[in-house]
Amino acid sequence: MTLPNFDELIEKYAATILRAGINQQPGETTIIQADIDQAPLVRALSAQAWALGARDVIVRWGDAEIGKSRLENASDEVLGTTGYAAAAFDDFCEEVNPNLIFVKSSGPSELAGVDIEKIKISNRTAEAAQPKRRKLTGAGKMPWIIVGAASENWAHDVFPDLPVSEAVDKLWEAIFFTSRVSFGDPLKNWEDHAYKLGKTADLLTSYQFDHILYRAEGTDLKIGLGGDRIWISAGGMSGASKKEYIPNIPTEEIFTTPDFHRVDGVVRATKPLNYSGNLVDDFELTFKDGRVVDYKARVGQEVLASIIEADEGAHFLGELALVPIDTPINESGLLFLMTLFDENASNHLAVGRGYPAGVIAGPDMNDEELREAGVNYSSMHVDFMVGSDKTDIDGVTADGEVVPIFRNGKWTDEIANQL
Ligand code: ZN
Ligand code: ZN
Repeated sequence: MTLPNFDELIEKYAATILRAGINQQPGETTIIQADIDQAPLVRALSAQAWALGARDVIVRWGDAEIGKSRLENASDEVLGTTGYAAAAFDDFCEEVNPNLIFVKSSGPSELAGVDIEKIKISNRTAEAAQPKRRKLTGAGKMPWIIVGAASENWAHDVFPDLPVSEAVDKLWEAIFFTSRVSFGDPLKNWEDHAYKLGKTADLLTSYQFDHILYRAEGTDLKIGLGGDRIWISAGGMSGASKKEYIPNIPTEEIFTTPDFHRVDGVVRATKPLNYSGNLVDDFELTFKDGRVVDYKARVGQEVLASIIEADEGAHFLGELALVPIDTPINESGLLFLMTLFDENASNHLAVGRGYPAGVIAGPDMNDEELREAGVNYSSMHVDFMVGSDKTDIDGVTADGEVVPIFRNGKWTDEIANQL
């Protein structure tokens, strides 16, 4: 590590994650999930969480290389079997309602060459292994946050031409910048940013749009929203949770969950999609009555097929997210090859699982009620970027009023002037 002020920035980053992000309160238990090469950040998080009065701080270590070996060597039967500790962890989450901090540091090449089917079996198993935890986090009842940390592998993926140590420094710099940690007062930055995100989300919610019209190069899409939709920002999510928290750092998006029955037209991706180390590029999806009826990719057609055909729900939309082009992430000009960052650089959609929290009563609905409300279900949730400086978006209310939301990739004055 050669960044001259790395230690200071790591401390600021940890403070941002704990105070602006998860909003650590005295008496709360916090679980940190990270790879072993991120020990400096995890130590800072742990020390600061204790200093903020944590009841307990629990670290669950992983390692990308060991994870890959398992995917390469374990049989389908083993990958499909729930681990012995999963149920205990699930129960613990329900009993204690801890804060969960996920530190993501794996680059796409981490899993390069691993059979996608193996990855899918493993993901499905993990998804099924923690029903209580997933229900709590999905409904916004349990505070969680995802943040990034530079690993050698990921840094090399982003900066393939640089020596590894230089690449790691560059990636950390980009993480600190896009996370609003390396300029001004990070906590103040986040207070202002979260406030603005929250206001914008509330404003969009107040229109109760019937549908959204989305136009850009190669894109002409109508997305139905159904009743009682809420636009959500990560700026101080509270919902059913015991407190406000920010589930992603960085975050720029304002999103909701579409009515998955009512999506029609064509949408063209504007950035490559990295799915577990496999690239899909230059692709478009065609929807009819909500369902993907055609899809083609110039690069990675079979990867795209494995996403869409994973299950029936993967043929439908689960997320509609708005991100203007003038954000630190987009200004960094980097393709991070990690969804947390890239999805916050651009308007995006996701096929697969929708968000119950996108519907007013969603967190308390059962599966059938969610389906009726148009909230999609799938074992998949795959984001893909559709934003550009050519994007125009309108919201149309139930009585036909058309509200311009985006022009040329940015919030319109109609929206901005109301904030
Ligand atoms: Zn999103
Ligand atoms: Zn998403």
